[in-house]
Amino acid sequence: PKNSPKPSREVKSTCPYCGVGCSIYLGVRGNEITGVRADPDNKVNKGNLCVKGRFGYKFINHPDRLTLPLIKRNGEFEEVSWDEALDFIAQNLEKYKGDTFAAISSARCTNEDNYALQKFTRVVMGTNNVDNCARSCHAPSVAGLARSMGSGAMSNSIDEIPDADCLFIIGTNATASYPVIGMRMIEAAKKGKKLIVADPREIQLSKYADVFLKHNPGTDVALLMGMMGVIIEEGLYDSSFVDKRTENFDEFKKSLEEFDLDSVEEITGVDKEKIREAARLYASTKPASILYSLGITEHSHGTDNVFALSNLALLTGNIGKPSTGVNPIRGQNNVQGSCDMGCLPDSYPGYQKVDDAEVYKKFEEMWGCELDKSVGLKMPFVIGASSLGTVKALYIMGENPVLSEPDSSSIIKSLENLDFLIVQDIFMTETARMADVVLPAASYAEKDGTFTNAERRMQRVRKAIEPVGESKADWEITCEIAKKMGAEGFEFKNASSIVDELASVAPIFGGITYGRIEEEGIQWPCIDEKDPGTPILHVEKFATESGKGKFIPLHYRPPAELPDEEYPLLLTTGRSIYHYHTTTMTGAADGLVELYGDDPLEINPEDAAELGFENGDMVKVISRRGEVKTRVEVTDMSPKGVVFMTFHFGETPTNVLTSPAMDPISNTPEFKVCAVKVEKE
Ligand code: SF4
Repeated sequence: PKNSPKPSREVKSTCPYCGVGCSIYLGVRGNEITGVRADPDNKVNKGNLCVKGRFGYKFINHPDRLTLPLIKRNGEFEEVSWDEALDFIAQNLEKYKGDTFAAISSARCTNEDNYALQKFTRVVMGTNNVDNCARSCHAPSVAGLARSMGSGAMSNSIDEIPDADCLFIIGTNATASYPVIGMRMIEAAKKGKKLIVADPREIQLSKYADVFLKHNPGTDVALLMGMMGVIIEEGLYDSSFVDKRTENFDEFKKSLEEFDLDSVEEITGVDKEKIREAARLYASTKPASILYSLGITEHSHGTDNVFALSNLALLTGNIGKPSTGVNPIRGQNNVQGSCDMGCLPDSYPGYQKVDDAEVYKKFEEMWGCELDKSVGLKMPFVIGASSLGTVKALYIMGENPVLSEPDSSSIIKSLENLDFLIVQDIFMTETARMADVVLPAASYAEKDGTFTNAERRMQRVRKAIEPVGESKADWEITCEIAKKMGAEGFEFKNASSIVDELASVAPIFGGITYGRIEEEGIQWPCIDEKDPGTPILHVEKFATESGKGKFIPLHYRPPAELPDEEYPLLLTTGRSIYHYHTTTMTGAADGLVELYGDDPLEINPEDAAELGFENGDMVKVISRRGEVKTRVEVTDMSPKGVVFMTFHFGETPTNVLTSPAMDPISNTPEFKVCAVKVEKE
């Protein structure tokens, strides 16, 4: 970036963008962040950063940052003091105690921020209506892996990736979305390790693949079950592992009968010999590691996709050993942490269930209050309940659902129907504009805390500068609201005392303190102060009740909305390497918008020729839910019949188009498939 002065000191911290969790040094001069460099000694990124991590820091001192609390009066925001804002909130929230209140926490905020918000929701507001944006991305991983293996997180570590003899990369454009992990995958390929890449689009990694499976969007269950049929038919499965460490194999094996290779070829569009080749390669090249992300989870059958992947690892014994496993790559910097902290309607911190009598009694004793015993509302149902008027007050911390959730028009209507909306953020987002009160939050560079990366590693975030304007750390704001409302248990002196409380209430964090993670983070579970943490899960037994990995029988279910005569193209969505989420941060960072400043419609050359479009033409993309104007980019990255858009910018709100269809288990929306038509503007 231009005009950055030389730093006078450096502060070690963690990148605020994706779930890789690269370790960084922030350059500081006065109260300004002047640059970012990679930490060469950290085993996660080993001196590497991507373009966002290296150059995306200018948002921190941006002149548009929120600096004072704002209350909306007669449709206009007025700047007010913290005292006035807190009084106003406390008076209003008193009316909505219980299930008329809900909170949405943030995967961009620290563990400490998330811990404080779920505790506030439960202790002060008396409800379990708290959720986080993992609902829109990796909730199927949490639900699926918890059921099959007992723990919904990456089983292995990032540093093990290049040592796998085979990487099965499915539903993840890792070089764009998690670039430093993408680099480790390319490092493996360059070392001669085998790569199987499955993706409907030609992504950068497909060029490195030994086998590239270009399957139709939403057909992963068929593809994976087809591969497993081959593995069993050819006797390539690990029968000793299956016998000793798993259960439910016979039922699962029976469900494979539905997936003969001819029907799998027809459903997936992939030549059956290629499916056979991939199956043989994965099953016979050990150790083999599965890595996936939102191409697997953001479907109306996302949890089934995750079950299929865990079946595959169990079948071949590729779990519980170095460089193996089932590894969901978490998207946002702290999406793992916001789930870990209990910002889930069914779990207290550390995945302890809210409706388990032993658990809630323990929390009642520790928090000194009576707690709600029923599972709260997941995010889509909070939105639905807001539109019906059963949820009346909503507290959103660091999220922008107006742009990030599917079918945006109905999200806006639901938020308009609320009696009281609090939004806490660093900028005036599309969602904040709809609020009754907006609270200015400090960015990650202005507070102490921790983020937990995709491999379950809790790492330090350090205060490098004073908060901009009168902004405050999110956890401090939440605790001040709680104290204004007369609650006890929110007198945290600093961020580290929140982690001390976490360690005392959640056994998987029992051994984690700030002192222990000064130099290097620790991967949970970490039970006590002698426990070094857990780089590999499921080594001797699974975290299920029986201690065994569970095979899950599956049937194929197509996506909820497929192209038809009226809407003949399939739209799938994803991310650009230059941006993060709804660009609240990267949109205010010098240079990144110059490199990628809109969400174009990527279309195959044949489709473009049929429709008479050329590169740069302005078009209307129309679905059953709305329309978006954008420009055309003709590329053979998109297969014929499939168009692609990123969803970063408010000017091209892609999620106006996407489908609200949900996975029935995790309630994650089907961002990856909907039907559209495209017309010239
Ligand atoms: Fe930051 Fe992710 Fe890029 Fe690393 S790979 S620098 S964590 S955005």
